[in-house]
Amino acid sequence: MALFCQRCGTELPMNARFCSNCGAPVAGTMAIPGRRLVRPIVGRQIAGVCIGVAQAYGWDVALVRIFTVVGLIFSCGLVAVAYMAGWLGIPEEQLPLP
Ligand SMILES: [Zn+2]
Repeated sequence: MALFCQRCGTELPMNARFCSNCGAPVAGTMAIPGRRLVRPIVGRQIAGVCIGVAQAYGWDVALVRIFTVVGLIFSCGLVAVAYMAGWLGIPEEQLPLP
């Protein structure tokens, strides 16, 4: 399942609220109003914190990951603590039953 940006046609994840290519808001029936902050099962790299934050706020997950990695290096552990807090505090995404 996927959404397509109405402006540029980029394929987007079902729960995208903004196009990752052109930034246009995704106006569609598939949008999840007030999407909760969750750690998605699909697309995660480590614990799903980065992609969860990216999806919840409509950010580009690649940018979130870059900032996380840079932050890990330069923040003397603050980002690591935040990441662990997210890992523990953000609920795992509940997959819809088939
Ligand atoms: Zn677009």
